[in-house]
Amino acid sequence: MRANCWMGRNSVKVEEVPEPTIMNARDAIVRITSTAVCGSDLHLVDGYIPTMKKGDVLGHEFMGDVVEVGREVRNLRIGDRVVVPFPISCGRCGACERGLYSVCENSNPNAGLAEHLFGHSPAGIFGYSHLLGGYAGGQAEYARVPFADVGPIKIEDDLPDEKVLFLSDIFPTAWMGAEMCEIRGGETIAVWGAGPVGQLAVRSAYLMGAERVICIDRFPYRLQLARDRAGAEIINYEETDVLEALNEMTAGRGPDACIDAVGSEAHHPSGPLHAYDRSKQAVRLETDRPVALREAIMSCRNGGIVSVIGAYGGFVDKFPMGSLMNRSLTLRSGQCHVQRYTRPLLDRIRRGEIDPSFVITHRMRLDEAPQAYDIFKHKQDECVKVVLTV
Ligand code: NAD
Ligand code: ZN
Ligand code: ZN
Repeated sequence: MRANCWMGRNSVKVEEVPEPTIMNARDAIVRITSTAVCGSDLHLVDGYIPTMKKGDVLGHEFMGDVVEVGREVRNLRIGDRVVVPFPISCGRCGACERGLYSVCENSNPNAGLAEHLFGHSPAGIFGYSHLLGGYAGGQAEYARVPFADVGPIKIEDDLPDEKVLFLSDIFPTAWMGAEMCEIRGGETIAVWGAGPVGQLAVRSAYLMGAERVICIDRFPYRLQLARDRAGAEIINYEETDVLEALNEMTAGRGPDACIDAVGSEAHHPSGPLHAYDRSKQAVRLETDRPVALREAIMSCRNGGIVSVIGAYGGFVDKFPMGSLMNRSLTLRSGQCHVQRYTRPLLDRIRRGEIDPSFVITHRMRLDEAPQAYDIFKHKQDECVKVVLTV
């Protein structure tokens, strides 16, 4: 079958690879119909997540039709149409029982590797390095889905792929980012990053009752989408000082909660801290550039919440711990516990409360994956989100 493979830093290629087969009684094989490229894939392609191997199949946002099931998978039948969550979760361990699916204790066969870096291992993730399980991903014609009795959600009505595909990742991720802000109604929320995750975080915060949502980025076309389609107020950080602007907008107090939807490869508008991060990262003394995270912490109102859904891989420098501690901030984060959100969010899509497909700007074929990565990474052609049909 054809699959999009990681071939080294800044290189992906559609290759012929062996088709997956059932390996465990709880596996299913899915014939993929639609898959997407995520901001998290860029961290792999840019070489910031260790333990990728040449030929690894990429992709963790996918959906399709079940073509084979293991003997213990009783909830799915051949022909069912499913969306597959990106974390691989057993559904039975202590973490899964508490709804913490992305830290499942049973799905990372390379847990020992992850323990070296993180202390304890999180769940395995499709197409996301050997550190996180070495599972083949979903930018392919077929995928093996472990614990298929837990993760995949059946789509029983005729909603098109584009409306439900993002239940695999970016919609629940954005939703969790907003949920961690403990919105009760009337709050002001700031979102760093107007990428697909940031856009959906803006919409999620409004759906939860936020009064104002402010989105920060530097690409005018992404900010315009956040304003026009998600309803955000916008700040272009290349034109305006973010801390000052947020203070002005909130009577000097700062937003009630701040969402980092940027992650470890944040861009910095030059200056000494930029040079510091770039040079330390270049010699691998700092793995991540926490530019947006620092700003989110400094901007948040006293006693507020900083919600981190942007992905980080290792260690950060110049972390404003003093600001966090002295101002009683709460820091929350996580890879999304997708399985917790798929059902309620599918219901919201079905009721027409939200259509996450508004972020799609590019529709391409799996064979065009290398070009899709290029366009998405370099924000060419006003790209926000690419969906690949298979
Ligand atoms: P993306 O790369 O399209 O979007 C990131 C946006 O951040 C870009 O528009 C960029 O211009 C902006 N940005 C960069 N530096 C900035 C700064 N200093 N201030 C404000 N904005 C800045 O990616 P995406 O698909 O939207 O994903 C966003 C992040 O979410 C990534 O780190 C991704 O890995 C992560 N993610 C996490 C989860 C999870 O489960 N926690 C799931 C999906 C994605
Ligand atoms: Zn993702
Ligand atoms: Zn588990």
